[in-house]
Amino acid sequence: MNYEKLAELLFPNITKTTEDYEALYPQRDLKEGARVTRFAPSPTGYLHIGGLFGALVDVLTAKATDGVSYLRIEDTDKKREIDDGVSAIINGFDSFGIDFDEGVTGFNQEKGAYGPYTQSQRAEIYQTVAKDLVKKGLAYPCFCTAEELSAIREQQEKGDALIWGYFGKWAKCRDLTFEEIEENIKAGKPYVLRFRSDGQEDKRIFFDDIIRGKIEMPENIIDEVLLKSDGIPTYHFAHACDDHFMRTTHVIRGEEWISSVPKHIALFKACGFRVPKYAHTPQVMKIDEEDGTKRKLSKRKDPEAAVSYFVEQGFPKESLIEYLLTLLNSNFEDWRRANPTADAFSFPFNLKKMSPSGCLFDLVKLTDVSKNVISVKKAKDIYDTLVVWAKEYDEEFYTLLTRDEEYAVNILNIDREVPKPRKDIAKWSEVKDYVSYFYDEIYTPDYTFPENLQKEDVAAILKAYSEVVDSADDKDTWFSKIKDLCEPLGFTPNVKEYKKNPDAFKGHVGDISTVIRIALTSRKNTPDLHAIIALLGNDKVKARINEAIASL
Ligand code: GLU
Repeated sequence: MNYEKLAELLFPNITKTTEDYEALYPQRDLKEGARVTRFAPSPTGYLHIGGLFGALVDVLTAKATDGVSYLRIEDTDKKREIDDGVSAIINGFDSFGIDFDEGVTGFNQEKGAYGPYTQSQRAEIYQTVAKDLVKKGLAYPCFCTAEELSAIREQQEKGDALIWGYFGKWAKCRDLTFEEIEENIKAGKPYVLRFRSDGQEDKRIFFDDIIRGKIEMPENIIDEVLLKSDGIPTYHFAHACDDHFMRTTHVIRGEEWISSVPKHIALFKACGFRVPKYAHTPQVMKIDEEDGTKRKLSKRKDPEAAVSYFVEQGFPKESLIEYLLTLLNSNFEDWRRANPTADAFSFPFNLKKMSPSGCLFDLVKLTDVSKNVISVKKAKDIYDTLVVWAKEYDEEFYTLLTRDEEYAVNILNIDREVPKPRKDIAKWSEVKDYVSYFYDEIYTPDYTFPENLQKEDVAAILKAYSEVVDSADDKDTWFSKIKDLCEPLGFTPNVKEYKKNPDAFKGHVGDISTVIRIALTSRKNTPDLHAIIALLGNDKVKARINEAIASL
């Protein structure tokens, strides 16, 4: 067979060669050991938490080695694609501060010298490499119809073939003559382009997975489809061309791709491309609430499978990143203790320290991490982020917050910017309820006074307090006023004394402040009561006390 002639017959319009692209996309000029990584999602409509996890691994690996990370959109499967898939991915990454060095940055936008970074814009590259494969006798057109392919499959299922697929003796079109091919093409028969595998059933391949170590698998023997009948490449072929010309050094991707590695290695080699290094990351799993088993996060059952969930809930981006880092490398927490204020992206991430087994995503742990993250933020920073969140997700709260910025910042500053800040808030969607008693519009009184106190005593405490309250008092004055209320009302300012002799008193100073706290906020637990009173002001405090007395 004259493969040159066949290549011209199949690709009359392709005038470039693989060498032209080698020149167009030269080796990157990076320092020794720098890693080039890519995140390569298909735009299927939403960003999965596993995607964020994977992208983080790519970005951190590149950063830790002074390399390059890039975002490539793999949109060759038009059936799976949805309209706004690319924006969903980009917005998801933007929301969490994932910043690739190169690649797609928005609709029809990209940066970097190795583009285009969207597969649908790279048709000529794939066709050129495919043409060169035909010239080398490593690819051939296959005219089998869907019916013929299922007939082959049926026979394989009946027989004792260990592998099913288009290979060896089953590969009918492997040995068509030039004349047969030419005739089919003239007759307008549709065809795909297949890889001519030289793999053997009894041979094995070995590769080193950075996360999993040595892996041994049977060699690929399948004549995989490279170009579909519309000329669009399959994922397998496209990614090999792209990873090569984008000069990827490390292919880091989900473990579901391990089984494809033999196929990929065969393709890289056939194309004359250097095989990249591989690292297959574990799945993000969770413990099922119902049956306690470990399973994959599912879009259908778990709202937290979609990255947008964390945006809507208002988890600060640092919280999610911080939490994912604890899942990625077990030494992250030590590093964090040693570098409490460092940017998480400067963590010296190490692929080798990743565990190969599925990692458990635990919303409760994320919540704890987030409370820590938020507790050390400045009130004004919290306010600024909260307002942006509220504008999008809670109009009413947004209006209240922005009506009086200083008031809102002061509320957020209670028990904050102190050595032991409160760790009450994990996400922005909780804040409205948390601060509701500061805003009449969203506050509904609902008092449950301590059971150990008589109604008359509660009323007496409140009445006495409303006579002395002054929201301008400093903390000491405020507290001595509370203490002074005790004895006339039959309480003691001394908790120890009360404990020694509980029958001698109606209660102690703590009961007094609890009653006041509940009357003002309807809660047993709040941040510093003195600060709350100072912010509410005399009028509101007195009005709330009267309301509480009336309710008794
Ligand atoms: N487009 C593939 C996917 O979304 C990427 C696989 C890879 O990273 O090689 O699953």
